[in-house]
Amino acid sequence: MTVPATHALETSLPKGDLAARAARVAAIAAQYAEDVDRQGRFPRETVDALKAEQLLGIQIPAELGGENAGFAAIAEICTTLGQACASSAMIFAMHHIKCSSLVEHAQDNAWQRSFMARVADAQLLLGSATTEGGIGGNLRNSICAIEIDGDTCRLEKDATVISYGSEADAILITSRAHKDAAPSDQVMTVFLKGQYSLEKTVDWDTLGMRGTRSDGFLFKGEAPAVQILPKPFADIAAQSMLAASHILWSGVWYGIAVDAVVRAQSFVRAAARKSQNTAQMGQMPPGALHLAQAANLLQLVRSNVVAALHAYEEAKNDGDKLSSFGFSVTMNNVKIASSETIIDIINQAMLICGIMGYKNGTPYSLGRHLRDAHSARLMISNDRILANTSTMLLVHKLDTHLLG
Ligand SMILES: Cc1cc2nc3c(=O)[nH]c(=O)nc-3n(C[C@H](O)[C@H](O)[C@H](O)COP(=O)(O)OP(=O)(O)OC[C@H]3O[C@@H](n4cnc5c(N)ncnc54)[C@H](O)[C@@H]3O)c2cc1C
Repeated sequence: MTVPATHALETSLPKGDLAARAARVAAIAAQYAEDVDRQGRFPRETVDALKAEQLLGIQIPAELGGENAGFAAIAEICTTLGQACASSAMIFAMHHIKCSSLVEHAQDNAWQRSFMARVADAQLLLGSATTEGGIGGNLRNSICAIEIDGDTCRLEKDATVISYGSEADAILITSRAHKDAAPSDQVMTVFLKGQYSLEKTVDWDTLGMRGTRSDGFLFKGEAPAVQILPKPFADIAAQSMLAASHILWSGVWYGIAVDAVVRAQSFVRAAARKSQNTAQMGQMPPGALHLAQAANLLQLVRSNVVAALHAYEEAKNDGDKLSSFGFSVTMNNVKIASSETIIDIINQAMLICGIMGYKNGTPYSLGRHLRDAHSARLMISNDRILANTSTMLLVHKLDTHLLG
């Protein structure tokens, strides 16, 4: 992976207005995070605030009413929100992963362009339906097939996980390209609310990420065939979705870990202040070493995500590079590293805060962080990703340079 000078990303970071808008949404997300988690409910207040601050359209090109925000700006907002409410942050991330499929691949298509303008103008919330009963997290295969009948397309899918499915304004859904297509010959289609029905099949009552409301549904849709994205899903998955998913998810997960370490740090500081008035005066609180270890791991995750952003910036205008094994291995590694490491970080924070971290309702509570963080390794199973990477490593030559 090449790591160019850090100023390369600066132009796409959320400065001034964008950062302030994200901070205002994060304040609302933090206010409702406990209730969202306890009740396992959709974080409506946060999503309303995202819409009010016009943050759902920022990735759309300016000529279509958006703000041209790149992955770095969006990942930074994911981290800001992740520190407040991981479910809200994940909803924001998933929406923008779907936006990236439109922005990167559908710009020559008149319907998709007008749809992007609607996303920006009406702040439409986009959902994703790739997971399918019988296939699980293997998003590069489908059982269901889209049926094209003249100008109309129809699709029925056993979509076992659709985050905020009932709340989305449109769902981008994968299927085989036609009834005789191979499982990996897939397309992605946009269905607008009103063009589909959702019959709930699985309830989302989970350990963490309870606010994403990722229920399972039998999806039945009918729409104009122009709503099928023109590029094969294989290209969309390799050239934008892989990077968008692994970078933006990692931004969210990094945010969860940051908040855990911030809580642990304030616990250690409070203990240090207390010890100044007791017999242990001058002694470091016992959690201080764990805090240093947690800060060290946090920096690793951050560096990894920032390096991935650089790798994407460098490759994004080169289809061959984006589709290369080297790029895929890099993106897979980012996902594996951040999803594994945040668990270690939050465990360290828990050791620091002790029972005050284990209990709910204290300023140092970490239960929600830990539960939310455990979704990261499953969100496309790390075993599946490692299997995919190991196949590529049979032929891909490792980059042996420090700077590429
Ligand atoms: C918070 C959250 C939100 C989500 N939102 C959405 C959404 O909006 N839309 C959507 O479509 N999906 C969504 N998902 C689904 C998700 O991205 C995965 O696709 C899904 O969780 C995978 O299901 P599974 O655990 O049954 O994994 P599977 O991939 O089916 O794997 C099941 C088990 O088999 C093992 N396994 C399977 N294949 C292999 C292999 N090749 N090599 C090694 N081991 C293997 C895995 O270790 C795993 O334990 C969401 C998931 C989470 C956690």
